Amino acid sequence: MPSMLDAVVVGAGPNGLTAAVELARRGLAVAVYEAADTVGGGARTEELTLPGFRHDPCSAVHPLGVGSPAFADLPLARHGLEWLHPELPMAHPFPDGTAARLARSVGETAASLGARDAGTYRRLVAPYTGHWETLARDLLRTPWLGTPTDPLRWARYMTLAPQPLALLARRFSGDRARGLLAGLAAHVISAPHSPAGAGVALLFALAAHAGGWPVARGGSQAIADALTGYLREQGGTVHTGTAVRRLDELPPARAYVFDTSPTALARIAGLGGAYRGFRHGPGVFKVDYALSGPVPWLSADARRAGTVHLGPGYGDIADSLRRAVRGQEPDVPFLITAQPSLVDATRAPEGQHTFWVYGHVPNGWSGDLTGRIERQLERFAPGFRDLVLARATAGPPELAARNPNYVGGDIGCGAFDGLQSVLRPRLARVPYATSHPAVFLCSSATPPGGGVHGMCGHHAARRVWRWLRQH
Ligand SMILES: Cc1cc2nc3c(=O)[nH]c(=O)nc-3n(C[C@H](O)[C@H](O)[C@H](O)COP(=O)(O)OP(=O)(O)OC[C@H]3O[C@@H](n4cnc5c(N)ncnc54)[C@H](O)[C@@H]3O)c2cc1C
Repeated sequence: MPSMLDAVVVGAGPNGLTAAVELARRGLAVAVYEAADTVGGGARTEELTLPGFRHDPCSAVHPLGVGSPAFADLPLARHGLEWLHPELPMAHPFPDGTAARLARSVGETAASLGARDAGTYRRLVAPYTGHWETLARDLLRTPWLGTPTDPLRWARYMTLAPQPLALLARRFSGDRARGLLAGLAAHVISAPHSPAGAGVALLFALAAHAGGWPVARGGSQAIADALTGYLREQGGTVHTGTAVRRLDELPPARAYVFDTSPTALARIAGLGGAYRGFRHGPGVFKVDYALSGPVPWLSADARRAGTVHLGPGYGDIADSLRRAVRGQEPDVPFLITAQPSLVDATRAPEGQHTFWVYGHVPNGWSGDLTGRIERQLERFAPGFRDLVLARATAGPPELAARNPNYVGGDIGCGAFDGLQSVLRPRLARVPYATSHPAVFLCSSATPPGGGVHGMCGHHAARRVWRWLRQH
């Protein structure tokens, strides 16, 4: 190892690894330090329940991963990453056994929303379908840094994107479309009247039409492992089992890049109250199941979907989100569920399945949501409980203990609402820079925010690269 590194990255989540890779491939000497014993952060896979059942404790489904401009530029397939597509990206079932469908095809999706809303849906997505590559580059960034590659389409999107979900939902008359959109917006866990819900819902819908909502063969760990494999190929080093507490514990480097929460960064790098105003969002309660068979969904569409959202209606989802945001526990949680073993035989012994589900709860909530989650599952899949071989649960305290970025169980590393959905982690021209010139932030606390897409790391690395060239 050279005596002086060019960059040290703290944290081996998808953003830290992407930042490290992008610096190493430019010929810089890079080392990554990770607190956990394995790389991955929110992109990891573990035998959490029984031998042979490989669960994703955090991210499982990757619409923004398969569609990430940062990942598209890297040889991740050569390092073992393979996307597996379910027949249907997402189903949004109702208790009568029917479902709204988010399909690869716009036509199939629109048809599932009912005659009155089909045309509205088609008109909503039409200006953007077929343009994912430029749209993703233009949207998954800090809006005021650089210029959009397709300015007209970007400008059009930006007339809609800041709107709250509630306004977008008003364009539709039936609960199939309204429920489907609410479920999509719920991925950022903000209330229906919070700005940017419309932009989020549309982004997830467009991602399905462009690249699908796949899982990674072998589990989400494959994403982190592919990034790590490529990093090592480029001469980078990775040190696990090393929780960084102070900057001076790290080897000398020209730049330090943090894949951490802003408050942890401030503490470690001695930045004082630099991020005092930064707010964390609601938490989640996660359950990973080992099942003796596939989930017995009433809805045939849910049986072939990689992701299943359980609201069902707009009002139910809005109420559940509002409660989580206000700090009240949900009576009936909105659930995001995934069934990776439908398309990936490596996840469970033959004929058996892994099943992934989480609901939203207040930040720091320490209750047990398992009973409420299973009551809701039984409503849409009667007999579900009879299939449970084992379950592993993790509420906010457990999630935060496993990964310090998930403060109070906030999986987005910072509330995605109000101005903070864009001004992350604080009002600054370059959000990746800090008050220390050689210290940078690259976690999902920066734009464009949560999800396994590496785009925060990608943009942070460009800033670090630019600074290193000048100094
Ligand atoms: C239950 C759950 C479900 C999710 N589902 C999805 C999904 O389906 N699809 C999706 O795209 N996203 C999903 N996400 C979100 C996704 O996992 C995150 O947005 C993403 O992992 C953020 O990447 P990151 O690199 O910014 O941070 P992280 O992945 O959180 O990685 C940060 C890393 O830094 C390390 N670290 C922190 N502090 C220190 C320190 N002081 N010293 C050394 N190391 C440190 C941590 O241990 C961790 O490994 C989910 C998350 C959770 C928890």
